[in-house]
Amino acid sequence: MIERDCFLCVYGSMIPILSPYPKIKSGIPCDWIVPCKKNNLTINPNTLLKFFPDDPVILKDPYNRPVSNLRISLTSKCNLSCIYCHAEGEKLPKEQMSSDEIREVLRVAAGFDIRSVKFTGGEPTLRTDLLEIIGSIPPGMESSMTTNGTMLAEIAADLKRAGLARVNVSLDSLNRETYRKITGRDRLSDVLCGIDSALDAGLVPVKLNMVVLRGINDHEVEDFLAYIRGNRNLILQLIELMQFNDCNYHGDLNGLEGSLAQRATQILTRRMHHRKKYCLDGAEVEVVRPLHNTEFCAFCNRLRVTSDGKLKPCLLRNDNLIDIRRKRGKELEDLFCEAVRKREPYYR
Ligand code: SAM
Repeated sequence: MIERDCFLCVYGSMIPILSPYPKIKSGIPCDWIVPCKKNNLTINPNTLLKFFPDDPVILKDPYNRPVSNLRISLTSKCNLSCIYCHAEGEKLPKEQMSSDEIREVLRVAAGFDIRSVKFTGGEPTLRTDLLEIIGSIPPGMESSMTTNGTMLAEIAADLKRAGLARVNVSLDSLNRETYRKITGRDRLSDVLCGIDSALDAGLVPVKLNMVVLRGINDHEVEDFLAYIRGNRNLILQLIELMQFNDCNYHGDLNGLEGSLAQRATQILTRRMHHRKKYCLDGAEVEVVRPLHNTEFCAFCNRLRVTSDGKLKPCLLRNDNLIDIRRKRGKELEDLFCEAVRKREPYYR
């Protein structure tokens, strides 16, 4: 039974208390809880905390968007130099979080019912303590990592054993020369071996991230479809270029998406960013369009952590970061809440 006269206020969202099990998590700052009355008794939040210490609280921002996904950059270093790279919006960080700090971030996130984590970079496989970091993912939290795949062949099986569920591999071209032109390195064959190893190791589905660059690789979409067709564990993600430097190869994905829609036997909409997924004959393609897309922002459920230990409420902004270096426990929980309060849709 829902007692409609009793509410918790978690960042502006009024959550009715479900009698007799209010969802209050230990350590919630009391100013989140609107003093409320139940059967004429004022509920003492501390009493409730004692009774229900393990019930998680879902973080919601002032726009009522739940945060259920964490994207942690493990390093700003990379062994490729892609012409378009946004470097996860990081500006030349000097420090790097330790594996111990990352473990604490994950623990606190799990306490807030954040259900999935994606590791990114820079290139996360450059971290020598990567397996230790993967090993610290709390039980029940979904995990994935986005990598350029150059070193996957060597470590895919270890990553799986350490507990990683799946990988995204950045692959912008199947043509050796074009790959070299985009990334600055002649590593296409290493990446293709890495993809095979990831499939063998069961890091699936393997999502191939292809940033569509007008006049450079936009003619390769059919080649990519042929590459993934028939392998249910390979999914293609076509990503709209976000212009962060003078890489001006942005192409309009409207035409491409229109033709996928025409050929699709099924079109699904993912909860995350409301991304569209097109199921073609034996191939699955997702389209990621972050630019001028109010739906992308309205359905964003992601909180980012920079490699130097800052909570980053939005990929596209750098003016609202929150430093969490060396923070633990209650102090870190409060900073998570502050970051979530600062989340606002970039494209409103
Ligand atoms: N090194 C790893 C990799 O290659 O996947 C992780 C870091 S990379 C910054 C993460 C993802 O961001 C990649 O899939 C990459 O293609 C995408 N990305 C980077 N810069 C971008 C941009 N300007 N526009 C769109 N996507 C971008």
